[in-house]
Amino acid sequence: MIIFDCLMPNSCAEILRPSNAGRAKSLKVFYTGLLRVCNGLPKSTASSMDEIVRSASSLVDAAVMLGGVLVAPEHTVMQRLAERRIAPQVITAFDIQPFNNGWRYPTPRGAYRWKNADSKADPKYKWLDGKDDFYHVQDIASAIYNAGGACWFVSGEADVWAMQSAGIAHVISGYTEASVSKELPAYLESMGVTVLYIAPDLDQTGAGFAGKVARVLQESSIELDARQLPKELGDKGDIGKAWAIYTRRQTFERWLLGLPRFIPEPEPKPEPKALQVDAAIIPAGYRQLIADLLHATEYQGDGFTKKNVRCPFHNDGKHADASLHQEKGLYCHVCGRWFTWNETGIKAGAGSLRTWRMANTYALSTELREALIRDNKTNLARLLDAVAFKGWKAGREFTRKDAVTVCIDLLTAWTIRQALESLCGFFPSFSITSSMKEKTLINSKQTRPPKVYKLPELSELAGKLQVKQIHFDEIPAQKIKHAADYRAEVYAALPRRKAGQYARKTLTERIAVSARTGQSYDKRANLIVTPNIERRQLKPDEIADLPDKVYKNRKYNLWLEDENCKKYRPDKESIKRIAENGGGKVYRVIQSANSYKAG
Ligand SMILES: [Zn+2]
Repeated sequence: MIIFDCLMPNSCAEILRPSNAGRAKSLKVFYTGLLRVCNGLPKSTASSMDEIVRSASSLVDAAVMLGGVLVAPEHTVMQRLAERRIAPQVITAFDIQPFNNGWRYPTPRGAYRWKNADSKADPKYKWLDGKDDFYHVQDIASAIYNAGGACWFVSGEADVWAMQSAGIAHVISGYTEASVSKELPAYLESMGVTVLYIAPDLDQTGAGFAGKVARVLQESSIELDARQLPKELGDKGDIGKAWAIYTRRQTFERWLLGLPRFIPEPEPKPEPKALQVDAAIIPAGYRQLIADLLHATEYQGDGFTKKNVRCPFHNDGKHADASLHQEKGLYCHVCGRWFTWNETGIKAGAGSLRTWRMANTYALSTELREALIRDNKTNLARLLDAVAFKGWKAGREFTRKDAVTVCIDLLTAWTIRQALESLCGFFPSFSITSSMKEKTLINSKQTRPPKVYKLPELSELAGKLQVKQIHFDEIPAQKIKHAADYRAEVYAALPRRKAGQYARKTLTERIAVSARTGQSYDKRANLIVTPNIERRQLKPDEIADLPDKVYKNRKYNLWLEDENCKKYRPDKESIKRIAENGGGKVYRVIQSANSYKAG
């Protein structure tokens, strides 16, 4: 095709390349047209050449109209790198090869990436083979070391090449400006980075990029140093463009660090992800609604619907290709996968589980209960659970008397008073002050109008306590009656939901109680606790590693035992005593975290 280069308009830097049916058609039009032009001309004269070029020009236009794409030949693609002032040694070091109107190059972890030579074309970048998180020279750690712990973070691979060409080896890119990996701080810290420089692109995405970097670095030890590229670079200005036109004598990095510094505003954290959807926490009402929408009627022994239902996820509306499981969700035999209740609900028109919950229940999450208990507000949590049980909804206005009346079988008046005081700490109460009311109150000689409370949106309360609501474990109304029962239920929610090994601290810290209280809650909430003990014969070299003496009043999860299962402290002195007591085998016993499950 390069043969036709000279026939193309604009000194023919570009050729036509078919990449789909429409383009193939356009190419055929171009070639047959060109052949006709060539055949109708006298043999190779200068004037006929001009004519061919003129005709080719209109043929190219026609071909482009038909969906043809203009593609640069390989030598031009490499020339574009030179226009960007990418140094030949950088092209070699990064193994940049011409490929499909762009460049193909390996990433540090061995994936392959492609960049379009035409920066205005879409897509700009593509993963060809595999994926990677960060782009930089292979030996980035020593580059950072040589720079005294400084590192540049740029928006894309082309900027890495530009910086490298400008002699800056300590530069990394996350392949995109649109997002910043949460792994960035750990990755940088592992290489000893202490200061991270950025000079974002002069556009909206660039401004967002700065905020994103600021957010991920917020809780790290790395200092962020952001520099403002000069506005003169224009709308599409970025590091690459700045380097391409750079003519000063001072080094490029020195120039960059002379630019005005600015403090990017960390982007707010994203909203907590959708509810975790294990079947146990999906309310029956939501499942029923989805089942009705899918016309699922009867279930068989294995939990699946007797008759197949239509899958809302693929377009074939005629066939019933999916089975609804009454607990697990929807399985589609055509899509070949499971869909969660939440996904299915959204697609089938029931709305998301979150919206359903908000519309249908006033349900406290375990996370919210935990936060209230930690904050010494168990009574408030109990009151909210009690009124939820009685069917109250957010926004309801009530007096203390109303609450006492409706919760009398669950909570004492004293508990309710305490709870309402806690509620006022978050949401102030108010008094009825309408003139009508006031008049009647004055007339009836009542001393003061009753305080009115408003039942808060639980999401608002969770926001004030800075908790993410994820698990909506149910608490039976009977367990609201006593504070200890209630706390034990909240404590037990996690191991009940997910049986397994837990460090005692993991369980007790959630509601800020002592280990001893935790043990009493195990019993109260009827959890089955199994200790995990590993006992094996002590090896000779392990004897050598034992300390001479450990002290009595410390607790150990490691001890020694003799053949009679007598326990000893893990030290050399014990070995001596075992020998004195008749010797025999010595065992090393380790107790690791207990296993917990629902009783
Ligand atoms: Zn399907």
